[in-house]
Formats: sequence, structure tokens, C-alpha cells
Amino acid sequence: MIKTNFSIAVMPGDGIGPEVIHATLEVLQPLCSRFDITFDYRNYDFGAAFYRRTGRTISVAEMDEIGRYDAVLFGAMGLPDVRKPDGTEVGPQVDMRAHFGLFASLRPARLYPGVPTRVKADAIDMLVIRETTEGMFAGINDVVQPSDESMSDRMTITRSNSVRLFELAFRQARQRKARGTPGHVTLLHKSNALRSQVLLERVFDEVAARHRDIGSAKFYIDAGAMYFVTNPERYDVVVAENIFGDIVSEVGAGVVGGLGVAPSGDVSESRGVFQPSHGSAPDIAGQGLANPIATMLSAAMMLEWLASQHQQAQCVSAARALEAAVTKVLREGPRPRDLGGSANTAEVTRAVIAALPT
Ligand code: ATP
Repeated sequence: MIKTNFSIAVMPGDGIGPEVIHATLEVLQPLCSRFDITFDYRNYDFGAAFYRRTGRTISVAEMDEIGRYDAVLFGAMGLPDVRKPDGTEVGPQVDMRAHFGLFASLRPARLYPGVPTRVKADAIDMLVIRETTEGMFAGINDVVQPSDESMSDRMTITRSNSVRLFELAFRQARQRKARGTPGHVTLLHKSNALRSQVLLERVFDEVAARHRDIGSAKFYIDAGAMYFVTNPERYDVVVAENIFGDIVSEVGAGVVGGLGVAPSGDVSESRGVFQPSHGSAPDIAGQGLANPIATMLSAAMMLEWLASQHQQAQCVSAARALEAAVTKVLREGPRPRDLGGSANTAEVTRAVIAALPT
């Protein structure tokens, strides 16, 4: 029997998080009924405001409970003035990455017709995959002696994690190829200088050899970062370790119009958390000005991911319909303020709903 009923944990969070989530749920309602999909939502209230109110963050038991849902739709969490005793911001998304073993962050960067860009390019359509459990963040829980004179961080690459990362990258490239992209994976690395990256490159070559139908290339991260600006059309799937991937994915977002149109999905083989790439944007929160499109595109990614997890075609059709509606609104307006227009969140949401198939 084909699964059409999905349980979704919704975590709106702080700042503009609840606004963009509300807008996205409004769009999902007619979309799901059009494609005979049922989403059963349960709201979870975690984040910085919750921490301020209760003095606590998400617990292991609560993450276990959230892990039983088919997927998580996440807004944005963290407020600059709400800090834990160690001085860091409250970010349940980091705890969830570790708890669920979400080892890859999928960050598409697509230039939609009508969206202004500062680079010269006719078509940009790439997927940056950032590794999220090791690399330059491998030692964040290492016990260290604090010092004012010298501090180090640890870059660690493991074979087993790199294999699953690259297998995912080639699978994603194959899925995208079915939709008309070239079918190509580029590794960005620094094997000319760092030993960990020599291993990373070696494993990439081994995995690439198993996927001859998909092209592959490798660039040093410095040159590869430059190509994001000078020649972004050359990229299809781009994969990199944790910190390189973090940086180039934001360059990717920048060249296609900024954070307001940058969705993301943190995934493992069996779990997915989908959220806009932007933060809680406290400077515009509560004014109804946030661009909800990155969150709507994240919901489209969630639908595609549910489809691939459950061999389910309706979710793919719903994802395409949502993306087509967003594409129409980006091309024809109304355009949100971060993209040079004057439309507020509600106006953009109404326009996307009106552009959905009936
Ligand atoms: P974080 O560290 O949590 O990612 P940040 O401080 O780097 O957060 P954001 O909260 O993403 O950054 O905001 C950066 C800038 O982009 C802010 O000026 C914010 O108003 C703007 N911005 C972010 N998201 C949106 C959006 N959805 N719509 C309009 N403007 C946005």
C-alpha cells in the first residue's frame, strides 16, 4: 500500500521562524489536498525564547520522540541576547544533527528567472552538499586546556563517513539528472596541503569509479570557491567537508539572490530535517516582512525526500507543483523586499497559493 499519510514535527523557533513556517503551512494545506497527501503536524516549541522561559533546551527523550516522525520542518532558532552559561547561542538544530546522525546538509542554489543576481550567469542550478559531523568541526567536544596564547581545532576525515557522503552525492546527482541537470559531482578539497584531505580525495576517487554514469571533477577549495562567482554554471552537485561546505554554500546562496531563496535539508539515510538556510533575523521579526520562499522550497525538498524514502510518486508531483508556483511568483511578482520588491509575507504567500494547480 502506498503511504500518503505522513507525520511531521514542526519546530517554528524564534524571530521570523514562526512567520515563515506559518506561511509555508498555509501553502501546504491546499497543495496536500490537491495531491491526496495528509500531513499530521505536531508543534514543538523549542528555541531561544523557550530557553528564556523555561531555562532548558531540547532533551534526549524529546529528540527520540521527534525522531519517530516521518520528517521535521524547522523554522529558525536562536536569538543573539539569549545565551547558555558557556556563552554560546541556543541551537537545538546542532543537538539534533548529532542525535540523529544527520551527516549531510543539502543546500540547493538555483537562480530563478526574475531574481536579481550580481554575477554574470544565464543559468545556475547546483546542489551544495556540506558534510556536518566531522571535518573541521570534528573536535568541538574535545577536552582542551583553555589558553590565551594558542588554541587549535581538529580536522578529521573518516573513510566510513566519506563513503556515505559521496554515495549520497552521486545518488543526488543521478536523481537531478533525471530532471535535466548534467549529472555531475565536484569535490572541493585541499589535498595539496592537508593530510585529512588526501584521504578525502582518495575516497572520492574510489566512489566516483563506482558511478561511471555520473561525471566528476575535483578542485582545490580556493579555486573552486572563485568559480562560484566567476563561472557558477559549471557546477551541478558540489560536495565538501564541514567548514568548506558551510562557506561555499552561503556563496552559492549569495549568487542566486540571497538567503530568502535558499532552502536546505539536513539528512541521514533515514531522517530528514528541512529548514531555510537563513537564521531568525531578529532585525525584521514580528513585522510581517520575512521572505517565506526559502521555507516553502525547504518544504518542497521535504516532499521529494519523503517520496524517495517511501517510493511514492504523489509527493514528487506535489514538490514539483510547489516549486513551479514559487518560480511563477519569483518571475511575475509580487516580490518580497529582500529581492528588491515591496511585498510582505502574507502577499507572497497568497500569490504562491494562487499559483498552485487546482
Ligand atoms: P544565523 O547565525 O542564525 O544563521 P545570521 O545572523 O547569520 O543568523 P540571519 O538571521 O539569517 O543571519 O539574517 C541575516 C540578514 O538577512 C538579516 O539582515 C536578515 O534580516 C536578512 N534575512 C534573513 N532571512 C530573511 C528572510 N527570510 N527574509 C528577509 N530577510 C531575511
